[in-house]
Amino acid sequence: MLTKTKIYLSSPHMGGSERKFVEEAFDTNWIAPLGPNVDGFENDIQEYLGGNKHVAALSSGTAAIHLALQLLNVSAGDEVLCQSFTFSASANPIIYQGATPVFIDSEQDTWNISPELLEIAIKDRIEKYRKPKAIIAVHLYGMPYKVNEINDIARKYEIPVIEDSAEAFGSTYFNQACGTLSDMAILSFNGNKIITTSGGGALITDSVELKNKAVFLSTQARDNAPHYQHSSIGFNYRMSNVVAGIGRGQMEVLDDRVAARRKNFEFYKANLSKYSSISFLEEPIGFYSNRWLTCIKTSSYDMREQIRLALSEEDIESRPLWKPMHMQPVFKDYLHFTNGISEDLFEKGLCLPSGSNLSQDDLDRILNIILKSPYL
Ligand SMILES: *Cc1c(COP(=O)(O)O)cnc(C)c1O
Repeated sequence: MLTKTKIYLSSPHMGGSERKFVEEAFDTNWIAPLGPNVDGFENDIQEYLGGNKHVAALSSGTAAIHLALQLLNVSAGDEVLCQSFTFSASANPIIYQGATPVFIDSEQDTWNISPELLEIAIKDRIEKYRKPKAIIAVHLYGMPYKVNEINDIARKYEIPVIEDSAEAFGSTYFNQACGTLSDMAILSFNGNKIITTSGGGALITDSVELKNKAVFLSTQARDNAPHYQHSSIGFNYRMSNVVAGIGRGQMEVLDDRVAARRKNFEFYKANLSKYSSISFLEEPIGFYSNRWLTCIKTSSYDMREQIRLALSEEDIESRPLWKPMHMQPVFKDYLHFTNGISEDLFEKGLCLPSGSNLSQDDLDRILNIILKSPYL
């Protein structure tokens, strides 16, 4: 019997040069959290992003958010405003710092942090407690959030923004790269992201001093002394030179990966948008999404589940949209400012297989199962 291969939601897709850079690391014995691949990868990212940014390659995107909070001196007693509709890694580092998250719901146009609710929350916290220490905004699924609106509010109240660009490498906002649109930004190179180093992340800042401080903290905060001396608490968060080699290879194909993922989106949209029970997130003018994952919103929980289970039956992975943080057992008791939008997306939304390595046969196989849905 012919068995069909499993189709994953978003699987790693190597370009070709990754192995060469990794072999170089072996040949030169740079098997350490520093070396030419780390420097080369950071330079590649800086060049790609443009705009005089400084990049620190780290062990994960989560580590990058944690260091960003550390660099902003977020600590116990502080509140951090965080987009509720996201992956838990956006919020967990707030807890690592002993600080308190306050969750903000999304708006309809981008599914990201609502400027209206953000300002309501800031006013509320200033009146009832104190000014929040930072804002974590997320370009979810690759779609930029409303950057100008969020930055205007952040400037008005003088609160720094951490731009969680983990899912949006290759996306742009009015021709500026996601990852360069705020005070500090992070990227992720986890296995499911648009490019991967198997695991890794980066912190992006405006100043070389902040970058150097991030590198210092990420390598155990060792003072300049012949012995090991420490005047502050460090972390072991630096990227290894071996995985940075994978990253250098992946940078050569990032634009191809964006094109392939956008093509997936166009395929699904071309074939499914005629059904009133399925809708897609469109790009507002000036917004350019890498379409990391193609998401559909169905007309009901039952319809979403029917499609998800029918795909699963055929060994095809799909997943409900992120469960908002304010609904998560671990975060539900924290303050949140909501409007029902992320809850509705969680109830009816589904991420379809979106890897850049999907074949036309794969896409047809997925589509044919969705087209059999009795809910269409
Ligand atoms: C993947 C992801 C992260 C965390 O990145 P890791 O490299 O997996 O630690 C943070 N935020 C969002 C929105 C993500 O999708």
